[in-house]
Amino acid sequence: MDNYTSILVRMGEISLKGLNRGFFEKRLKQNIKSKLKPYHSEEHKQKGRLYFDITNECPEEIMDMAFRTTFGVVGYSKCLSCEKDWDAIVETARKVIAQPPFDAGTGTFKVEARRSDKLFPMLSYDIESKLGGIVLSTYPGMRVDVHHPQFRLFCEIRDRAYVYASPQSGPDGLPCTTAGKAMLLLSGGIDSPVACYKMAGRGLKMEAVYFHAYPYTSQEALDKVKKLASILAPYNQGMRLHVVPFTEQQLWIRDHAPEDETTLMFRAAMMKVGNMLAEKEDATAIVTGEALSQVASQTLDSMSFSDSMSDRLVLRPLVGMSKGEIMDLAKKIGTYETSILPYEDCCVVFSPKHPLVHPDKQTASRHFLDLQMDELLQKAVQETVAIDFNVHGTELKDAEA
Ligand code: ATP
Ligand code: MG
Repeated sequence: MDNYTSILVRMGEISLKGLNRGFFEKRLKQNIKSKLKPYHSEEHKQKGRLYFDITNECPEEIMDMAFRTTFGVVGYSKCLSCEKDWDAIVETARKVIAQPPFDAGTGTFKVEARRSDKLFPMLSYDIESKLGGIVLSTYPGMRVDVHHPQFRLFCEIRDRAYVYASPQSGPDGLPCTTAGKAMLLLSGGIDSPVACYKMAGRGLKMEAVYFHAYPYTSQEALDKVKKLASILAPYNQGMRLHVVPFTEQQLWIRDHAPEDETTLMFRAAMMKVGNMLAEKEDATAIVTGEALSQVASQTLDSMSFSDSMSDRLVLRPLVGMSKGEIMDLAKKIGTYETSILPYEDCCVVFSPKHPLVHPDKQTASRHFLDLQMDELLQKAVQETVAIDFNVHGTELKDAEA
């Protein structure tokens, strides 16, 4: 049978844009196409929706990943088309209901037919009741509910017949890369990967910076951060991870700063290096995973001290979220299981028993200057190694990067 597949995409916030809507739509198309390569043939727009035609060889997981991870997609349906022949339509409908969300086989549904081609010999009502019968005989556990169905099966008769189910959810938001570039301070914890997701969904593209204090933090801790970067890469349209060797610097702080200020001084040093890398990479903001009062060091005083150490705007998208909300989101985006692996972060290894949590900004800044770390921080930047992940989250070898 002559079937071909296109994915119907519904846009949310982009549709509310005014004169600049074209800019956002174009970027959304580019972002999706970059993930579908080489399986995508063409895309077109009809009545405010985007359709992406996919070649038959496209593996299911690539197709799903392309739409599930691209910000700007509110929902997507796999739409099969065939000739306007009833037997072909039935066969196509069977294929559509063999996939999500119908394949669960339970719940309520409704069939909606639209007949733009009035020459088609069946009325919409006939199409609906016949296709409804096919769903019921395939899935005896399902029921029809015409008022509040959980799922819908659509059949549109136009130039060809198009059959598709109610949409699966996309991540919503605005297309990544439309809002500029920032440096993300990425630890191996639960929070900073979620911060990345939140900001990518507002259009920001990030490069990640990880401070690695080998051998105080293990190779496993670094592998964990690489794994997180690879999970985040599809949402962020690829990811460059800067690994900063930070042992000498942390030991210097441990040996020269007042003990209760070591955490603050690590933070200050991380902000400085984050800004130096941002300068090199043309990034205009810093992103962290801090949330107000989540841990003792995340006070207003500590955060405003960190801010004063940054030449760039510091974005903290999780600042008002509870740990539970952050964990739920981490589970949804797939970073949670990796984040909870037990390898210690460098800050934890060096943290004092009684950290100063309400620093005076001027005093702390002076103490940081007293540490005279300029050269050590320059050295950290020079020794930084970049690792690149493509839009599918695959690590690129040097030649490909
Ligand atoms: P996370 O869950 O993201 O590790 P956390 O609750 O453990 O956060 P902290 O350890 O206080 O909180 O770290 C606060 C923020 O500082 C992190 O969200 C991250 O942005 C940054 N950060 C901490 N450690 C590192 C590191 N080793 N490399 C890069 N950034 C870090
Ligand atoms: Mg942490």
